[in-house]
Amino acid sequence: MMTALKKCPICRKPRVEEHAPFCSARCRDRDLLQWLEDGYALPGPPADPDRDPEA
Ligand SMILES: [Zn+2]
Repeated sequence: MMTALKKCPICRKPRVEEHAPFCSARCRDRDLLQWLEDGYALPGPPADPDRDPEA
């Protein structure tokens, strides 16, 4: 198992276990916002395999 010190992917500071994998709740929120923005930026709706083509 890797024992290297992991860093916050947002600001590169050493992460805090309480907020892993981030260093703080603030960075965690920032990552979440980026993730949501990426979702809104999708070019189109994903295909829905459960949709009935005859509906
Ligand atoms: Zn951070």
